[in-house]
Amino acid sequence: MSKTLSAEALRSVVAGIIEAVGSSRAEAEQVAANLVLANLSGHDSHGVGMVPRYVDAVAEGGLVPNTAVRVELDAGAMLALDGQGGYGQIVGVQAMELGIARAQELGSCILSLSHAHHLGRIGHFAEMATAQGLVSMHFVNVLSRPVVAPWGGGDGRFGTNPCCIGVPLAGAEPFVLDYATSRVAQGKMRVAHNKGERVPAGYLIDERGAPTDDPGVVVVPQSGGLFGALMTFGEHKGYGMAVACELLGGALTGSGTWHRTPDAARSVYNGMLTVLIDPARLGTRERFEQEASAFVDWLKQSPPGAGFDGVQLAGEPERTARRARERDGIVIDDATWGEIVAAGAQAGVAVQSV
Ligand code: NAD
Repeated sequence: MSKTLSAEALRSVVAGIIEAVGSSRAEAEQVAANLVLANLSGHDSHGVGMVPRYVDAVAEGGLVPNTAVRVELDAGAMLALDGQGGYGQIVGVQAMELGIARAQELGSCILSLSHAHHLGRIGHFAEMATAQGLVSMHFVNVLSRPVVAPWGGGDGRFGTNPCCIGVPLAGAEPFVLDYATSRVAQGKMRVAHNKGERVPAGYLIDERGAPTDDPGVVVVPQSGGLFGALMTFGEHKGYGMAVACELLGGALTGSGTWHRTPDAARSVYNGMLTVLIDPARLGTRERFEQEASAFVDWLKQSPPGAGFDGVQLAGEPERTARRARERDGIVIDDATWGEIVAAGAQAGVAVQSV
């Protein structure tokens, strides 16, 4: 059983809960719109299913409603901001607005954001930049649980560290590459475990560091109370990108890297290093636009491979999902809906009556 809701109905439910745990109405609506957009884009793992965790994080004091970025350094094309534990959907947007204005003024901006609570779908920030004709690169680390193993290592040492690149394309929708550096999302392992399914080789190691196809190793404690870990994508190459995200998103921003024993805290903190470039100011605009369009056309002419309908560009699957889900509604599985109802009750909101 599952529930299908319109985007509007879902936004109203989520905004009601976020407001009830302390946010202004405007903040609650912005957080809700961002989470529902993640569901619309096909990324349910970063959508409204996060609400129960946010409610717990507010109660614990790790997520602070009605908090804005604090400017720590404002030096021309370099901006360093502290998110101060505010909603990532708020401080992330504030940071990008400041960075975009600076890149429009000076041609580029290096934007560092520390201590944001969960920033959600990083592609949202790249889409803000590409909508203004800017190139945008993001390196992000995650402080919540060390669920991903280093290549050659036998336990989890860092988070799912996402990386994202947005490139505007003249007269066409932008390229928006946005992915976690883990081979697969932790949330997908929970679903597989609940269904009693096995997962393909190369996704997981168990608590002793041995390869396994049992998703339970990252969901329930194993022998000795230990957990297994997710692998990175692309073997040593994805591992290197995950470390780059930790070094740039966690260390260079001053946000903090992972080097401690995990606890049960529900907060998720992100550090994000963003590089913004205005192609018009780099002096290559005309050639950039021509060459990028010509390359995309060339890619699209590749004949469909076995089992595929054709070549897509990063960003396309999300836009296709948005059209379908705006039309057909968003399907929320029973377990997720139950958790949202419970989070509502915790916040004093009767969700089922909405
Ligand atoms: P994913 O594996 O679904 O990959 C998504 C990327 O691949 C997108 O850029 C998409 O356009 C592209 N893509 C998908 N299918 C394609 C195809 N057939 N051809 C060409 N391109 C294709 O994503 P993921 O790794 O599961 O990450 C999901 C989301 O989770 C992202 O938005 C990421 O930012 C977010 N995330 C956030 C955090 C955080 O702490 N805030 C942590 C991890 C992940």
